[in-house]
Amino acid sequence: MSNPLSSIIINRDDHCVSRKNISSAALKVLYRLHDKGFKAYLAGGAVRDLILNIQPNDFDIVTNATPLEIKKIFKNCRIVGRRFTLAHIFFKGEIIETSTFRAPITKKNSNKKNTQIMTANDGLVVRDNLFGTPEEDALRRDFTVNALFYDPINFTIIDYANGLNDVKLKKIKTIGSPQRRFIEDPVRMIRAVRFASTLSFNIDKKDFHTIKKNAYLIQNVSSSRMYDEMQKLFFSGSSNEMYKILEESNLLKYIFVDFYKWVNEDSKRLNWINSSLNQLDKWINAGLKVDAPLLFALIFGEYHETMIEKKIDNNKNTFDLTRRVINDHLNSICSQIRIPKTIIYQVCDIMTYQIRFKKMNPKQSSRIAQSTGFINAFLYLKFSSKILLRNENVLYYWQEIRNDNSLKTTSKKIGSQKRITKRFKK
Ligand code: ATP
Ligand code: MG
Repeated sequence: MSNPLSSIIINRDDHCVSRKNISSAALKVLYRLHDKGFKAYLAGGAVRDLILNIQPNDFDIVTNATPLEIKKIFKNCRIVGRRFTLAHIFFKGEIIETSTFRAPITKKNSNKKNTQIMTANDGLVVRDNLFGTPEEDALRRDFTVNALFYDPINFTIIDYANGLNDVKLKKIKTIGSPQRRFIEDPVRMIRAVRFASTLSFNIDKKDFHTIKKNAYLIQNVSSSRMYDEMQKLFFSGSSNEMYKILEESNLLKYIFVDFYKWVNEDSKRLNWINSSLNQLDKWINAGLKVDAPLLFALIFGEYHETMIEKKIDNNKNTFDLTRRVINDHLNSICSQIRIPKTIIYQVCDIMTYQIRFKKMNPKQSSRIAQSTGFINAFLYLKFSSKILLRNENVLYYWQEIRNDNSLKTTSKKIGSQKRITKRFKK
């Protein structure tokens, strides 16, 4: 390292990370490992977020204890992962991910005979389990701001990659050559976009240029990993900003190939996608839970509706057609983003409810409004009516039915409360 050690260790007086903002479960793991003679640091996103005064999503720990040694210390521990073997330590309502310092991937140690590290012919790392030093571990993380460690024993931050400076500059920058790091793991390109949008940071210029040039590599990522990443992106609470960066960085056209082409054929089509992502961000930031079926129904709503309309034929069953069109589209994405079948089924439901809604049949309304798929379908109706200025009467009708139903439920609850009180009086 060219940096002198003094600039790598940041003392308590020179940073704002405090133990009181760290989960008690994470502190327990850190102290226990230390008591048993191991090094143990809080690592990655948690340190970055604590410096930024943001509540971390999770508290990851890194140590020189191997997964087997960790398992011996903690009864509530399970070893997971093949690509990365690490320990999950279970607490009430929280899992503390604890990994062992990892060594860098070099040509020497990534040959075919080495079962701990394996690299495919195109440079993609497929197995990665050679243990190393704290510095080696830090330098093989994705971005400088994600490579910070916090040592709970002497309250220092350890910064091997100049990450603290990049936090101050609000910059997402890969550690080492962006070209090599993005080839090693193309998911890092999406992670860069996610961190830039959620933290309101900028992606370093060279990194951004490299992403634009290598965006096509995203098609090499496994479809289940892509599904997880897509959920993290869209449920981040800043999906609208994220969508813009995905587009500017060329990633979007390799993620949603047909949809991207369709949106770009007519600039008016951006209105739907922008409005749906805005709505999604509002819900998430208000603490409301949005599930994956509603997410996909919203994003692709206008696209699906247009495709259905094109194929509509009066003699055919529109329920079947709706399901078929949506099924075909979402299944065609699955080779790249593996959307679970149950989610696809529920996206179809949301859209077939729209057909039922238009019938406004008083005999069936109450039953429809109590069915499990109703809320998502109703939210879609509400959103699409507002954006496309249509179905005002249909929305009004179902809003009334919904109000009636919730009144009935409330009075039922009050009724049973009264009965309970009476019983107690007796
Ligand atoms: P958040 O949890 O807020 O989404 P995070 O930075 O903690 O963000 P995680 O996915 O929880 O992200 O990963 C924890 C840490 O592991 C990261 O901060 C980073 O240091 C490292 N890491 C995760 N994914 C990669 C990757 N693909 N390549 C290199 N390092 C990674
Ligand atoms: Mg994290």
